Amino acid sequence: MQTVSRLIHSFAPESYDLSLTLERVKRTFHGIVTIKGQSKTAGELRLHSKDLTIESVTFDGKQADFTHADNDELIITHSDLTVAAHIIVISFSGSINDEMHGLYPCYFDHAGIKKELLATQFESHHAREVFPCIDEPEAKATFDVTLTTEENITVLGNMPVKHQTTENERLVTSFETTPLMSVYLLAWVTGELHRKTTTTDKGVEVNVYATPAQSPESLGYALDVAARTIEFYEQYFDTEYPLPKSDHVALPDFSSGAMENWGLITYREIALLADPKTTSISSKQYVATVVAHELAHQWFGNLVTMKWWNNLWLNESFANLMEYIAIDALHPEWNMWLEFSTSESIAALRRDAIDGVQPVQLDVNHPDEISTLFDGAIVYAKGARLMRMLQQYVGDSAFQEGLKSYFKNHAYSNTEADDLWSELEKSSGKPVVSLMNTWLTQPGYPVLHVSQDGDQVTLTQEQFYIGPNTPSGALWPIPLNSSCSEMPELLETSTATITRHHTTSLRFNVGDSAHFLTHYSQPILAQLIAEVKAGTLSPLDRLQLLHESTLLARGGVMQSSDLVDLIEAYANETEEPVWVIIGMAIGELKKFVEDDPTAEKQLRTFSGTIATAEYERLGWTSKANESEDDSKLRATIIGLTLYSENEDAIAQAKHLYEENSLEELDPELRTLIISTVARYGDGSIVDTLLNVYKTTALSELQNDIAYGVTSTRVPEKITQLIESIKNTDIVRPQDAFRWFVYLIRTRDSRTKTWAWIRDNWQWVIDTFGGDKSYDDYPRLAASALVTAKQLQEYKDFFEPKKDIVALTRVITMGISEIEGRVALIERDGPAVRERLAQLEK
Ligand SMILES: [Zn+2]
Repeated sequence: MQTVSRLIHSFAPESYDLSLTLERVKRTFHGIVTIKGQSKTAGELRLHSKDLTIESVTFDGKQADFTHADNDELIITHSDLTVAAHIIVISFSGSINDEMHGLYPCYFDHAGIKKELLATQFESHHAREVFPCIDEPEAKATFDVTLTTEENITVLGNMPVKHQTTENERLVTSFETTPLMSVYLLAWVTGELHRKTTTTDKGVEVNVYATPAQSPESLGYALDVAARTIEFYEQYFDTEYPLPKSDHVALPDFSSGAMENWGLITYREIALLADPKTTSISSKQYVATVVAHELAHQWFGNLVTMKWWNNLWLNESFANLMEYIAIDALHPEWNMWLEFSTSESIAALRRDAIDGVQPVQLDVNHPDEISTLFDGAIVYAKGARLMRMLQQYVGDSAFQEGLKSYFKNHAYSNTEADDLWSELEKSSGKPVVSLMNTWLTQPGYPVLHVSQDGDQVTLTQEQFYIGPNTPSGALWPIPLNSSCSEMPELLETSTATITRHHTTSLRFNVGDSAHFLTHYSQPILAQLIAEVKAGTLSPLDRLQLLHESTLLARGGVMQSSDLVDLIEAYANETEEPVWVIIGMAIGELKKFVEDDPTAEKQLRTFSGTIATAEYERLGWTSKANESEDDSKLRATIIGLTLYSENEDAIAQAKHLYEENSLEELDPELRTLIISTVARYGDGSIVDTLLNVYKTTALSELQNDIAYGVTSTRVPEKITQLIESIKNTDIVRPQDAFRWFVYLIRTRDSRTKTWAWIRDNWQWVIDTFGGDKSYDDYPRLAASALVTAKQLQEYKDFFEPKKDIVALTRVITMGISEIEGRVALIERDGPAVRERLAQLEK
C-alpha cells in the first residue's frame, strides 16, 4: 500500500487569498494565490499542485526556486526559508477538462441553444488541480476568493458575495472570508442559473439553483426541505448553522449523488429537483434524504472535520443515519424507519455476507485509495446501521447530548472517531468504545440461531455467509433487543441457554436496529408465521421476518422453497413497505425458473394471485385524498400483476401510454407503463422513447425511460441500446452505469451486455479509470450473472485484472457472489420448482 507524507508537517497554512480568472471558452484558467502560514521546515516547503503550470513563486517578497516531485508535490526552496511564519505568492495556470473533478464544465440545452456551467468538485483531493494548496483535511485555513468570469452570469461561492463589478466586459466577484475550513469543502459554480429563496427562522438564507432548462416549480420542494432540515438540526444538535447562507445547486453533470461543500452543496439534478406534477413520491423521498444527508455534513464533517481520510467512514455513516432521523421528524407519515429497513439494511446485509468484504473502519494511506477501498454498502449502509445501533444503545437524549458537546469542543478543528466515542461515553455512561470496536473492525455479521426445548431457549451465534467461505469463528457483542424481558441485553459468547417462563411470541432485534439476522427454529417460527397471518405483528416485524428469510435462504440456512409458503402467509398484507419485500422475495425465486418455462409460468401466476386482492382494491387510478402509501403501493401491486402477464393489466398499460404524453402519466406508474409497451411492442417504440430521453430536461423521466425501454425483446433494439451507453449524445457519462445495470439485469439482454462490457473494457478504463465508479462495472456484472458458464467467463476476464488495486477486492467478491448464486440455483432449484408445481393442484 502506498504511503505519503502529510504536507501539513511541512507547512501549516492559516489563510489563502485566491484570485482566479476562468476562461470557459478557451478551457483554461489562471490565477494568483497568496498563502500565509507557518513553515515547519527550513530551506524548503511543500505544497500540493497537480497538472498546474507554475509561473512564479515568491516568499516574503523574494523570488524562490521550485520543482515538481512525486505525489503531486510542489517543492519551494530558498536559503532564507526558516521555521517561521511566511507569505507565499504563486502565479499559475491550468486547464478545464471533462473529468468531473477539479474545475469542469456541465452541459445543457436551453431553448435549442447549447450552454455550459462551470463547477468544482474537490473531494477528496482535487483542489490541487485548481490551485496550489495543502490539500489535506487537517490543514484548515480561511479563504478569500475572487473570481473573474464572463459577465451577466451567476457566480456562487461558499460565502455570500462581498463585492461585484464589471471591468472590461468581465465580471469580478469577491466573496466574504470563510471561517476556518478544509480545502476539499471549497466550491464555486458559475453560469446561467435561476433560483428560489427563503430564510430559516434564525435568518439563514437558503437558495435552490438550477439551469434555465429546469422549471421554477422544480425548485420549491428541496427548498422547503432544506430550510426545515436546517431548523431541525439546529435544535437536534443544539448548535447553530455555522454560515450565513446555504446554497443548493443542481448540476447537469455530476459524478456522485451530491457533495456537501460548505454553504454551496452541489447535486445531480435528480437528487435535488422535484416538479410536483411529474415527480413520484419515492423520488421526493430521495431528494429529501439527500438534502438531509448533505446538510448533516455542514456540522458533522464541515464544522468538525476528520483529521484524515481513514475516518471518512464515520462522516458518511453519521450523515446516512441523520437522513432518516431528520426526514422522520419532517415527514412522520413516511415511516422512514421502515424505509431504512428496506433500503440500508438490505444493502448492508447482502454485501456484508460475502466472504472477503471489508470492515467499516479501514486504514487509508493515500487519498487515491478512498475510491478504491470504500464499498458504499459497507461504509454508508452498514455504517449507518451501526450508528443506529449505537444511538439505540445509548438512548436518543444521551446521543444528542454527546453530539452537542462534540460540536462545542471541536468546532472549526479536526477529530478522530475516539473523540466522538468519548463524548458519547460521557453523556451515556455506557462503554461505547468496547461495543463499537468489534463491530467496526470485524468484517461481516452474525446469524443468531434460536431454538426452544420446553422452557429452555438456546441462543447461538456464528458468522453468516452467502456463498463460498472459510468460517471465521468470530464473535460479536450482540444487542439482542428481544421482545422477551427474560433474554439478556447482550450476547457476547458463542452460545447461551436461558430459562423462559413467558409464552408470548419470541422475537429478537426488535426495531431492526442491530446488525444481525435471526434464524428461528420450529415451533417459534410457526408461531411467528401464525401472527403474520393474523396481522398481530407490527409492519416492521413482518417486513423483517420476510427479508431476513430471503437472506437465510441465500445463505443456505433455510430452503428457498420455504419462501413460497412464507410469501403465501402475506396474502392479506396491506402495508406498502412490506409489499416491497414481498415483491423482492418473489424476485428471489426468479433465478430458479429462468430455464424452465413451465415453472416460470407458475411463478408468474403465483405473483398475480398474491397481488389480486390489492389489485382490485387499488385499481389503476389514484383516488382523491388517498394516502401516499397507497399511491406507492399501487405501483408495487401493478408490477406484480404485470409480471403475471395479466391481460387486463397489459391492456391498461398500453392504453395509458397511447392516451397520454410521458409527462402526463402518473409518475408512480410511469416506469411500469414504459416497460410494458417496450416489452410487448415493436422496435419503433424504442426509437420513440430514446428521442424523448434525448430531449427531455426531466432527469426522473430519463431514468424511467432507461429502466423501461431496456425491457424490449427485439434483438436489434437490444444491441442498439447497449451501444448507446458509449454515445454521449444520448447517455451522459454520469448515467452510463445505470444503463449498464438495467441491461445486464434483464434476461433478454444479459448475455449481449456481458459480452459488450468485456469487449469495451478499454472504454471503461478511459472513461471511469480516474473515478470512483470504475469498480461499479465488475460489481454490477457480478450482481447479475447466474450460470456456471458466465462464472467461468467472469473468472477468465477479471482474474488477470486483480492486481489493479482499485479492482482487487471487488473482483474477489464478485467471483464469490456468482459462485454462491450458481451453487444456490443448483441446490435449491429442484425443490423450488416442485413447490411451485404443487401450487397448481
Ligand atoms: Zn456524505
